[in-house]
Amino acid sequence: MASEPRQPLIGVLALQGGFEAHERMLSRTGADTREVRVAGDLEGLDGLVIPGGESTTMTLGIEREGLAGPLRRLGAAGLPMLGSCAGLIMLDRDHLGIMDLVAVRNAFGRQIHSFEADVEVRGIPGGPLRAIFIRAPWIADHGPAVEVLATVEGHPVAAREGSRVAVSFHAELSHDVRLHRYFLELVREQPV
Ligand code: GLN
Repeated sequence: MASEPRQPLIGVLALQGGFEAHERMLSRTGADTREVRVAGDLEGLDGLVIPGGESTTMTLGIEREGLAGPLRRLGAAGLPMLGSCAGLIMLDRDHLGIMDLVAVRNAFGRQIHSFEADVEVRGIPGGPLRAIFIRAPWIADHGPAVEVLATVEGHPVAAREGSRVAVSFHAELSHDVRLHRYFLELVREQPV
């Protein structure tokens, strides 16, 4: 009997923030998940999700656990990564430097703590995603290798650079699995 193809193993950075909702979405889309708290948890992953939360707290946690170097090395080695909200901030030039973009924190204004919008994302078929923005960043600048996938009020809120995807919003809080499915397709396209 032919064996079932192995499910991709996706790490979810679990120092702080909304990692559990990402794990649920990944499980629903056919991935195995592993919570990442120390460098050893990064071994053997097929991809990594950096969730939303609070980027200053997450930066401190990454420093405390000695994760910055290993994460940067995996970034340089081309491991697929998905960052949402604070995760987008962590991927930018001023933080882990894994994507060639600059995030502006709380860019939609402090008064507007959160809002929802229907956002059309290039590469994701089936109509707009219901996107939840919570003190969300936007992308103020990016290099030529970065493709903007979505904008809100003219500001980029989703981008891809090779196998890295960053979104300003929380897709993991809706019931719509299409962003995670899109990410897993990028993971499956990677040469092993
Ligand atoms: N405003 C937060 C930060 O700057 C991000 C918010 C979020 O991840 N929901 O870290």
